[in-house]
Amino acid sequence: MNRIYLDHASAMPVDPRVLKFAEKYLQDVFGNPSTLHSVGGEAKQVIDEAREKIATLINAEDANSIIFTSGATESNNLAIKGTALKNIVRGKEVATSAIEHMSVLNPMKELQKNGFQLNIIPVDSTGIVDIKELSRVLTKNTTLTSIMYANNEIGTIEPMKEISQIVHEKGLFLHTDATAAAGRIPIDVQKDGIDLLTLSSNDLYGPQGVGALYIKPKVKLQPILPGGGQERGLRSGTENLFAIAGMGEAAKIAKDEMEQESKRLQEIRDKLIEEILQIEESFLTGHPTQRLPHHASFRFSRIEGESILLNLDMGYNIQVATGSACSSRTLEPSSVLLAIGLKHEEAHGSLVLTLGRSNKAEDVPLISKAVRETVEKLRRLSPL
Ligand code: PMP
Repeated sequence: MNRIYLDHASAMPVDPRVLKFAEKYLQDVFGNPSTLHSVGGEAKQVIDEAREKIATLINAEDANSIIFTSGATESNNLAIKGTALKNIVRGKEVATSAIEHMSVLNPMKELQKNGFQLNIIPVDSTGIVDIKELSRVLTKNTTLTSIMYANNEIGTIEPMKEISQIVHEKGLFLHTDATAAAGRIPIDVQKDGIDLLTLSSNDLYGPQGVGALYIKPKVKLQPILPGGGQERGLRSGTENLFAIAGMGEAAKIAKDEMEQESKRLQEIRDKLIEEILQIEESFLTGHPTQRLPHHASFRFSRIEGESILLNLDMGYNIQVATGSACSSRTLEPSSVLLAIGLKHEEAHGSLVLTLGRSNKAEDVPLISKAVRETVEKLRRLSPL
């Protein structure tokens, strides 16, 4: 049975073109970019080129506004804690949405434990942030607001321009976690009005363990990893040359191919949604139209997402996700699904399909048949 991988939100294979481009930076070009000699200079140039490619992907005004980190988790931590701590004289309030990834929610909660006021903005049943509530809770003391560009679990794309307008009217800073959205939909930090933006390499088909943070020139941060002063003093530690070069190339390919690939995946996704929703008591989660082009998410009544996942994996060699793709080992219901108003028992029956470059239109009937058979089988076995 051929493998059909539908869990691109949790991990992606490195694109072979990325690997080919970056492999020389494991051996032939290996210098420390902070050194003054020519071997170090060569490495510095590679990193600066990667910065340039990433800046182009999100239309940043300047390549120097990009710094490299170990991934989206670190970028989110740096953006949130770094901005809140640096600007503490302006106030001790922060705000975020109820559907953020744990790497945003947990640093926010850490600030709360340290005396900050945390405002969590609710979302509607499709996952769109309550704009009125956002506008109501922001005060001049809110040093940072963090709202994700698009959600990895339900695919909903947030109205970033509207959000940034509200944040900026009050003279505040806006951070967005764009891990799920980058490379899938066009992002323009200047037009969208974003001050800080998180990216992950692997979510662009680049190597794992590297990410980036865009920081608008006027925004000041306190480093959370002090040391030798690399990355403009904001993130110390000798840079991972291979991974950074790979991330840059991955960003370039994603930008070049986005329009065509997103259109292709959206067609597959729409067909999948149409077929899966024909299963009895199946529901789409997230927004019906304002959603990522590669993202299809559902819930089924009276069965558990974990059982669906294991049955599809073992019975059909199809890999999917349930709940949060990144922390699905917990048996707690997904906080995202609870935030969109689902009851605990409803949130347990979730299925998340995230498509990628290996998926083909001809696989749709196979996938929907496998999901239907699995759901029907589990319901026959279910005591509910
Ligand atoms: N934010 C979002 C929206 C994610 O989907 C993920 C996981 N891919 C992360 C942050 C964390 O990424 P990482 O584990 O690479 O740090």
